[in-house]
Amino acid sequence: MDHLGRVVIPASMRRVLGIGDGDELEVRLDGEVLRMRKPREACAFCGTREDLTEVLEHPVCWSCVAAVRARGREGR
Ligand SMILES: [Zn+2]
Repeated sequence: MDHLGRVVIPASMRRVLGIGDGDELEVRLDGEVLRMRKPREACAFCGTREDLTEVLEHPVCWSCVAAVRARGREGR
């Protein structure tokens, strides 16, 4: 760690995570353990990170998929 508290993540670990220059990382303190992870994608509509699928290359959760489908049926 340098005097500003910055750490270097080894290149081999960056490759495994698929992260690079400019990417965001989630940092969490879990007791005395500092955890860093690549943020999971969030639903384009409600922002949840659970139960995601992909619609036209955007992450969307299944509840929002169901809501959009229900709307489509109402409109007919
Ligand atoms: Zn959603």
